[in-house]
Amino acid sequence: MKSRAYEPVLTPQAEQALPPVTGDKAGLLADLERLLPPDRRVTHQDDLFAYECDAQTLDRALPLAVVFPESTAEVSTLVKACNARSIPFLARGAGTGLSGGAVARESLVLSTARLNRILEVDVPNRQAWVEPGVVNMHLSKAVAKHNLHYAPDPSSQYACTIGGNVAENSGGPHTLKYGVTTNHILALEVVLPDGTVTMMGGPVADLPGYDLTGVFVGSEGTFGIATRVLVRLTPLPEGVKTILAIFNTVVDACQGVTQILARSILPAAVEMIDQKTLRAVEKYIHAGFPLDAAAVLLVEVDGLRDDLEEQAAAVIDACRAANVRDVRLAKDDAERMKLWKGRKQAFGVLGRLAPNYYTHDGVIPRTKLPEVLAEIARIEERNRVMIANVFHAGDGNLHPVVLYDEREPGAIERVRKASDEILAVVASVGGGLSGEHGIGIEKLAYMKDFFGEADLAEMRKIRDVFNPRGLCNPGKAIPTPGRCIEPGGGKKLPVGH
Ligand SMILES: Cc1cc2nc3c(=O)[nH]c(=O)nc-3n(C[C@H](O)[C@H](O)[C@H](O)COP(=O)(O)OP(=O)(O)OC[C@H]3O[C@@H](n4cnc5c(N)ncnc54)[C@H](O)[C@@H]3O)c2cc1C
Repeated sequence: MKSRAYEPVLTPQAEQALPPVTGDKAGLLADLERLLPPDRRVTHQDDLFAYECDAQTLDRALPLAVVFPESTAEVSTLVKACNARSIPFLARGAGTGLSGGAVARESLVLSTARLNRILEVDVPNRQAWVEPGVVNMHLSKAVAKHNLHYAPDPSSQYACTIGGNVAENSGGPHTLKYGVTTNHILALEVVLPDGTVTMMGGPVADLPGYDLTGVFVGSEGTFGIATRVLVRLTPLPEGVKTILAIFNTVVDACQGVTQILARSILPAAVEMIDQKTLRAVEKYIHAGFPLDAAAVLLVEVDGLRDDLEEQAAAVIDACRAANVRDVRLAKDDAERMKLWKGRKQAFGVLGRLAPNYYTHDGVIPRTKLPEVLAEIARIEERNRVMIANVFHAGDGNLHPVVLYDEREPGAIERVRKASDEILAVVASVGGGLSGEHGIGIEKLAYMKDFFGEADLAEMRKIRDVFNPRGLCNPGKAIPTPGRCIEPGGGKKLPVGH
């Protein structure tokens, strides 16, 4: 059957960041035939559609091919072949990224789907060597029998991989207390962009030399491909209590966050879910959320069993000081799991409200939550878009989800304008462009509004040390001078945060 002609769907900044590839594509395809069996390479256009984008669907382009290496040596050989043919390449985990980081126009995608083994669990030292394609939640499930878990828990943890988490320095609801990915990565085996295999970090603390592990984590796949990861494992808490606090206004819910974090306790998680999200979640998940609340806080405290009552009482007291309508403890594990299922599947469920969504993840000082959420509500109205909010409130990490239908004329322009305005508000309160989803290609155009030219030049110098030919995940994370256009709305944001 003949394939239809394919045109990538790229926003102007993505088009500029990912120009058509000029290297020896035919030569690389011939190399792949020689290097891998047919069941470990995908080259037919119809099959490549599955790799057209990640979970950010505004930018879509077909790769040249997708391959499934099974060892570090194979990754190295494939990367060397790309270098010889001047073809860009990138690693792909589960494709749940939300900033277009895994979009690979005419490039080689190295899927980590077959690098998915937990290699070694060192229980006494609370560490594990894993391959990058291990799914985040599978790791926690596998070590639970040792009373351990892998603490960073993105809401996508049912699917996303440790390699993707490392690249994005991912967070999650429980990183309020436990820290984000970088706090849990001890060492990395990396195939550098020229194919050399190197080791960063190690199993003992405070190694001499530069902290290359820290530099690699969060580099969005532009410094090489992680092929083995030494993760820190964390003891499961002796006890956990989950509290649902129901508020009549968003301002009260924001006050609740401030009050809770002003007490002398550190909850494991403080998540906020607004009314639109609550209603969508209840319809499909039946988590037990109230439909008439303006917002709820889902708060978790954990630790020694003896301390839990006191911690939970402090949270309840703080919510009362914030005019809470109702606050209750999950009565058992089943209710806890239901509430968390509602939170963790909220993004997926929002997908039922509209065919497309665009998620932001600006991070702001949490005391600014009331004014920023009020402004987002005004942006929603002004631009005639629907925006739902479900986010890591304790970290001040917003996730305004702009829902739209790309088939509706003018919808994408309105979404872009609303997005520019959201980011302008984030910048105006001293916030950051991304709390956890990364820059990818999606937010490239905004980087110069949050960083000075000298800061960006330093970032480029570091990237060029690792990736001098720019073949490893090109066009991502930092804008190329002279290439990046103004964001859609053209509104200049305050610089220097
Ligand atoms: C419903 C939903 C909820 C989410 N919730 C959260 C959340 O709570 N917190 C959060 O931080 N994020 C969240 N995300 C975003 C996303 O899940 C994370 O960024 C995740 O870490 C991506 O992992 P992945 O395996 O899907 O990576 P991919 O999307 O496949 O890739 C992401 C980037 O990582 C690079 N990469 C992948 N593997 C490697 C490797 N081995 N070596 C080098 N680079 C590599 C890719 O090249 C790409 O640039 C959510 C996404 C969805 C869809």
